[in-house]
Amino acid sequence: MATILLVTLYEYSPLFYIAVVSLCFLVTAAIVLGWFGFDVPVFLLSHEDSESTVSTPEKLMVQETNPFSLALGSGSACVSDGVSLKPCCLEPCVLSCFWGCEVGALQEALRTHQQNLRLTSPQHFLEALHHHFHYHQTFYIRSEDEKECHTCIPADQRIPDFGPLPRKHYPLVAVLTLAETEARYLYNIVANVIVIHVPDGKYNLSARILFQYLLTSQGYMHELKPLFMSAEGSGQLAGEQMEGSPDRGESDWSEETGRNCVVCQNAAVNRVLLPCRHACVCDSCMLHFQHCPICRAFVLESFALRPTLQI
Ligand SMILES: [Zn+2]
Ligand SMILES: [Zn+2]
Repeated sequence: MATILLVTLYEYSPLFYIAVVSLCFLVTAAIVLGWFGFDVPVFLLSHEDSESTVSTPEKLMVQETNPFSLALGSGSACVSDGVSLKPCCLEPCVLSCFWGCEVGALQEALRTHQQNLRLTSPQHFLEALHHHFHYHQTFYIRSEDEKECHTCIPADQRIPDFGPLPRKHYPLVAVLTLAETEARYLYNIVANVIVIHVPDGKYNLSARILFQYLLTSQGYMHELKPLFMSAEGSGQLAGEQMEGSPDRGESDWSEETGRNCVVCQNAAVNRVLLPCRHACVCDSCMLHFQHCPICRAFVLESFALRPTLQI
């Protein structure tokens, strides 16, 4: 049997080699023709070529101007010594600080805004909270004034801490509302509610903004979440509001030069990936990724920081 096979192979070996070489030639020619755009069978095309673009659903966004902004000020912050807040608003505003605000009372007040009574002034918030807080202080903020406001519970109130976890009171709730009635017709966003953790003897996690809500004149409430982007330029955070937009204004974005796409290092960053909120790629690189290049999270949706140019 083996002898017959060897003899057969010896007799037909030239034909066998010719067939192998011809087949190799045909495959190579098909691949080369494919590179130059000639129509060749699909199985010879590169697998990557056929999947070079992926389409991630575009999240529809609405641009709104947010007149409010608040950051924690410099210096130490604790319940006994108080905390410095640094508001920066486009219009004259009133900053209301509610120390030891009851969690349930704040939720109820926010529900009130969504249902019937719009909370557009400091007085509205005072009434909606029904005095379910320990101490209240207000500051008048001039437009674009970055002066720090120091708020503190008076020593005679004797509130060293807000008890063990889980808590029924937020340490501090800051509310920004527009000071002038006429200005409330200029903006869709009428109030900014900022819940702040302030350390005390029972829970000494450093002071930070826990979450923020924006209230609109139509009775909607949206959570304001940060975007994560390159530390170059003006910093790590920019506001993403609801179906909203960066609250720093469009001009800042277009003038930035240091925000290069992390993939091609060439075009400007213009895409925010969701749900991870990394703003790190340009429009054309977005077409090639289904995972975030920073954190590898699967990208469910994305939106543009500026109107997208057709590519
Ligand atoms: Zn790019
Ligand atoms: Zn990410």
